[in-house]
Amino acid sequence: MQQYSIFPNTEAHTEPGSIDTLATSLSSYIDPPQIQLVKRAYYYAEQAHDGQRRRSGQPYVTHPLAVAGILADMHMDHQSLMAALLHDVIEDTGISKASLGEQFGDTVADLVDGVSKLTRIESESRAEAQAENFQKMALAMARDIRVILVKLADRLHNMRTLGVLKPEKRRRIARETLEMYAPIAQRLGMHNIRVELEDLGFTTLYPMRAKRIHNAVKAARGNRREIVEQIKESIELGLERDGHPCAVVGREKHLYSIYQKMQNKKKSFSEIMDIYAFRIVVDSVDSCYRVLGCIHSLYKPVPGQFKDYIAIPKSNGYQSLHTILFGMHGVPIEIQIRTPEMEEMANYGIAAHWLYKTNDGQPLNGSHTRARQWVQGLLEMQERAGNSLEFIENVKIDLFPDEVYVFSPKGEIMELPHGSTPVDFAYAVHTDVGNSCVACRINRRLAPLSEPLQSGQTIEIIASKGAQPNPSWLNFVTTGKARSNIRHYLKNQRQTEAIVLGQRLLGKALAGLDVDLDGISEKQKESLVNNTGHHSFDHILEEIGQGNRLPLLTAHQLLARDSNRDDSNNAEGSSHPPLMIDGTEGFRVNFARCCYPIPGDPIVGFISAERGMVIHTDNCHNSLEFKNNPERSVPLRWAEEVEGEFSIELGIALEKSRGIIAVLANRINSLDANIEKISIEDEDPRMSMVNVIVGVHSRLHLARIMRRIRSIKDVIKVTRVKH
Ligand code: MN
Repeated sequence: MQQYSIFPNTEAHTEPGSIDTLATSLSSYIDPPQIQLVKRAYYYAEQAHDGQRRRSGQPYVTHPLAVAGILADMHMDHQSLMAALLHDVIEDTGISKASLGEQFGDTVADLVDGVSKLTRIESESRAEAQAENFQKMALAMARDIRVILVKLADRLHNMRTLGVLKPEKRRRIARETLEMYAPIAQRLGMHNIRVELEDLGFTTLYPMRAKRIHNAVKAARGNRREIVEQIKESIELGLERDGHPCAVVGREKHLYSIYQKMQNKKKSFSEIMDIYAFRIVVDSVDSCYRVLGCIHSLYKPVPGQFKDYIAIPKSNGYQSLHTILFGMHGVPIEIQIRTPEMEEMANYGIAAHWLYKTNDGQPLNGSHTRARQWVQGLLEMQERAGNSLEFIENVKIDLFPDEVYVFSPKGEIMELPHGSTPVDFAYAVHTDVGNSCVACRINRRLAPLSEPLQSGQTIEIIASKGAQPNPSWLNFVTTGKARSNIRHYLKNQRQTEAIVLGQRLLGKALAGLDVDLDGISEKQKESLVNNTGHHSFDHILEEIGQGNRLPLLTAHQLLARDSNRDDSNNAEGSSHPPLMIDGTEGFRVNFARCCYPIPGDPIVGFISAERGMVIHTDNCHNSLEFKNNPERSVPLRWAEEVEGEFSIELGIALEKSRGIIAVLANRINSLDANIEKISIEDEDPRMSMVNVIVGVHSRLHLARIMRRIRSIKDVIKVTRVKH
């Protein structure tokens, strides 16, 4: 049953109380020296807030005192209570965190500072769209989960005393409560606080609807009383007969959950109220299952409705057995069965942990559940690590793995994957911001663009017109958006540069043929585009610029098409005259290392992306393969006069004898041929296989060389090697 009432008014909660009342109630679970600390915090706050009043007219300190009271009801530890008493001191009285630290220790100062920070975010990021992020943000930011608990208590007291505010402000705070704080409370399993926040928020935001539902519940309660009592008695009797005497408590849904069910599930009020719900609290986990068995023998369970949240707790730590029964006359009966510890957990969630710890100083006996271990783990980690970045890491990992929440300078919250950098942030803001970012400030201090972001930081991107993405960013960006945008930009960039280069190369090649690039007609370009299967002339230029296409070849193709312009039957590729190779092509032309073509050999050229044009002999086995790809193959012919040297490989079999290699080298040199490389393989004790790569001028030159080698006495065989 709910412990509070929101109708007819909330005055009951606004009574000031005093520090002495609080101290008395603390004595049930906190040691005297620590109560003294709490008192000191109170007097400090009283003095700091001296002269300040709440809108209700009461001294300001009544508010922190009430917040501490809420936490005391949850049996929170003395540090949380001190932080609650001091929670508005930094923000409202200008006292520094450092002086709080001196007075009350760093832990309390950190807690107060954390609450102040949350208060600041809350006022900066009011946009509704940010609500969900705020929840995550708030949880992720709080180094110490008690910061959230103090903040929730603060908000709860503000909600209880909303009445004195202007309607406008009241509504805003109520909406924020429903959107941000109630879900946080739910996430942390703090059922009691969540329910109260929701009903207060709902009543403030929709007073008429709340009133209607409230009245309907009241009326229904009257009608239901008899049935509720009947069911309750029959269950209690049955349990007693089986040796499990225990109290069965009726449950009612709270207003906001009824409202939400009507809204979201489109159920009528009577449909929702048509369910009778009870809770049974028993002493041990073992009893939970026994009682369940007993109840299932009393009433028939509805198939598929049994849920074992003891074995598999909900992610917020909630544990219980749930079942639904067919009651008398077919009314559904909802039953929850749990232990007192589970009940605490269900009501106070994460806060229940401090309750367990301070009850008798011993960890809880009984069931070791995932949820309990989670909470336990959090606390242990917190105790171990002291301030505890680790602690919050654990909370974050559990609640929201792999996300960080950062601010823009305007206070907008941005959600990014864990490990994101300022560059990821910049691209998340806008592609243009990403493309032009040059530096950044993290919390107003200059920082490298590669620095991983932490939750809660404010990121300011410094952009510059004309700046470009740096390829090295790809080494550290995390988001797909940043990565793909950087790649896209760089690709475009390379494309533009390649086109400019291609234009220059083609211009030069045409100049060598006494043609000006500007003199090439659109029609010539178009016909080349059509005949080569490129999608534009720019694309052809790009291919030239990237070295995939020869400028000279392209120049010839352009002009050849020009001379054949009137011959419409003669449309296709290979019809233009072969390109002449005269040995002056330099690096643009490569001679294949498989067949080593030399002047006089029939040759053919192939365009390769890596090496530009590669020339093979016409009968090379690689040529056969390339010939299937006419777009990449170029008919070639040696010029009448060819300059330079051409490598060729000779295989020489010879009998081993002293000095034979020297003789061989001498012979070759004497014919004005350079040996580029020589390698020897011993075939057997008598024979060697010598491979020589020689530079020659022509086939004729080669023939003379081979003849001279054969004339050496120990040489058995000389062949031109082709791979
Ligand atoms: Mn406050």
